[in-house]
Amino acid sequence: MKVGWIGLGAMGWPMAKNLRRAGHEVLVYTRTREKAKAHAEAFGTRAVEELEGLAEAEAIFTCLPTSNEVEEVARALLPHLRPGTLWIDCTSGDPAASRRIAALLAEAGARFLDAPVSGGTAGAEAGTLAIMVGGDAADFERARPLFEALGKTIVHLGPVGAGHATKAVNNTLLATALLAAAEGLLALKRAGVAPEKALEVINQSSGRSFATEVLFPERVLDRSFPLTFKLGLLAKDVRIGNRVVEDADVPSPLFHLTRELYQAAARTIGEDADHTEAVKLVESLAGEEIR
Ligand code: NDP
Repeated sequence: MKVGWIGLGAMGWPMAKNLRRAGHEVLVYTRTREKAKAHAEAFGTRAVEELEGLAEAEAIFTCLPTSNEVEEVARALLPHLRPGTLWIDCTSGDPAASRRIAALLAEAGARFLDAPVSGGTAGAEAGTLAIMVGGDAADFERARPLFEALGKTIVHLGPVGAGHATKAVNNTLLATALLAAAEGLLALKRAGVAPEKALEVINQSSGRSFATEVLFPERVLDRSFPLTFKLGLLAKDVRIGNRVVEDADVPSPLFHLTRELYQAAARTIGEDADHTEAVKLVESLAGEEIR
């Protein structure tokens, strides 16, 4: 299939590469033109100079920071789109914005799927992402061969917005687990239990999570905090997660507290720090590092 790709960041770069490796013709565009050229040279994709150059593609992917940028490029491409173009948004976006973008694209006869992903840069590189899809079943089936080049777990969750809502809830759970683990491990350290030892048993017990199994052992305890997923992007996901619970009128004190904590973390530690650095908020309140 001829595919357009917008956004060659930490996730978009390897995902566009995997589509090419699966045999699709891939046209790439990003804000910084040199990156698109470098991608084309490295992987045999085709860099387009102007956004309009993507209009010849049958399917157009976006993998941008937020729904705001997706709406911006959708508006810019709208006059050039051909009827039947399938727009697949892998951004961790906002469900309400996605419904708006879907309606906008429909003016040109284009179709929209929200298809945010989970699995991080490692999953993007390996083509093993979990893909959470919202939109019409027929559009989902059309996109399936493309999704199969990107991920292993591919689930159609409901109408437009269902993918983004699910992703926002997932990431709010990740955010909560990360800070709760930081508080618990710091307390155990003060009680004389080494965090590594505590994790050895927690990770065989019911309190385990992705944070305790992967993030603490591989990124926090060694203080490496490699930048793979920006703290500002996780704080954005938690804000969306809060809109999801509020729209559903579910009492949600934990989601609200998590939003406040991640707003503070992004403000004090920095939007461009890795998300695992959020544990430094707990550490600064306690006046002590976990290690
Ligand atoms: P990055 O910040 O690494 O990349 C964002 C990309 O978007 C950059 O290539 C940037 O361009 C491009 N961009 C920004 N604005 C525009 C625009 N107006 N027009 C064209 N291109 C633009 O983000 P990630 O790749 O980490 O994340 C992308 C999405 O995926 C986010 O929604 C994030 O929440 C989500 N996500 C991230 C994960 C991760 O582990 N990193 C995991 C799962 C989901 P340029 O570089 O050219 O300036």
